[in-house]
Amino acid sequence: MRVYLDTFGATHAGKVRKNNEDSLLVGDGRDRSLFAVADGIGGFEAGEVASGIAIDVLKDLAPSDSLEDAIREANRGILESARSDEKLSGMGTTVVAARFRGAGGASGDEPLAEISHVGDSRAYLLRGGELKPVTEDHSLVAELVRSGDLTRAEASEHPQRNLITRALGAEEEVAVDTTVIPVEVGDRLLLCSDGLSDMVPEAKVGGILTSANDPEGSARALISAALDGGGADNITVVVIDVRDEPVEEPPAPKRNDTQELRAAPLVEDDAVPMPETRTPGRDSAAGQSKRGKKQDRGRKQRSLVGRALAALVRWTAALVVIAALATPFYLWANSQYYLGFDGGVVVIYRGLPPEYTLGVPLFEEHERTGLEESQVDELYRGQIVEHELKSLEEAERVVRDLRAEDDPPPERP
Ligand code: MN
Repeated sequence: MRVYLDTFGATHAGKVRKNNEDSLLVGDGRDRSLFAVADGIGGFEAGEVASGIAIDVLKDLAPSDSLEDAIREANRGILESARSDEKLSGMGTTVVAARFRGAGGASGDEPLAEISHVGDSRAYLLRGGELKPVTEDHSLVAELVRSGDLTRAEASEHPQRNLITRALGAEEEVAVDTTVIPVEVGDRLLLCSDGLSDMVPEAKVGGILTSANDPEGSARALISAALDGGGADNITVVVIDVRDEPVEEPPAPKRNDTQELRAAPLVEDDAVPMPETRTPGRDSAAGQSKRGKKQDRGRKQRSLVGRALAALVRWTAALVVIAALATPFYLWANSQYYLGFDGGVVVIYRGLPPEYTLGVPLFEEHERTGLEESQVDELYRGQIVEHELKSLEEAERVVRDLRAEDDPPPERP
């Protein structure tokens, strides 16, 4: 059977953040059946660069090429850019992408959606009035839900819910999760960034998607709801309807001639609570005019999350091990040590530095070493001010080395 896609994508900086670090693809790449949302991470606009790179790579993906490979290529591209420019160091992005396959053509081909993701940008499927999550977040709280330490409801309120355990741009290799689902006429698929899912409860998202007439109405209502819910983050939604007939005038048949897609035009609309919409991949001029204290708060929180991410991704392997063993998170945290300066002396702390946990106290003083800040060799300073996580042995070894460096060479008798 032949199906058609009716689609609409929109993005909005939200009420707090000055920049929009989300990017989106709405069927306007080489593969017209490909849609994506990417949520960039990294201060001073680096997040925008990272999510932009991810979308550019996807835009260039040929219909016959692997979606997972493209996501891995985006990962390498982000790492390379970050290495070549210090201002972009530590940048990363989530991505969720949906690609439609097998519609029309040979008899017996059922239309499918292939959905791949990394991080906490999500895909949902609305079918028969019921909203089902298609993706599972790669986030700290989602790991805790899977291990039974948190309920889904607790996770959605959790102060650390924005800490993600996988991102593009974090490590050389990235694990991409992919789900393939059969799609039917009448299905409505949603891709979104956490600026929607954090602000609007799932039940409400389901209600909006059920009652809206079309993808455009859905996208606009979702963005309005996220703004009403606080708009604390950039909000991006892409809505795709699977239909049995084309919408208005279909574009020229596609290369593979298996389906026809209508990527709804992204219109500029200045009407007040309406989302800013923009052409994917282009820098958004909108959203730059917000001012005042709120924007500073937004930026601060952003960089905090970014630093926490940078630190956490180094420990992704450890987190995976925790999930595998279902060891409670605090047990793991309590076996971590780090060094810091306090009152001008080097202190060994047990637990996680406050910036890893968004201020939730998960650390205690283990030992005040008596080593003064002035005695610390430049070589070790970074490890101490950046609160690098260590085992107790490593932390003690650094302190020993520092003492040895500082001691004058033994005098000959
Ligand atoms: Mn976000």
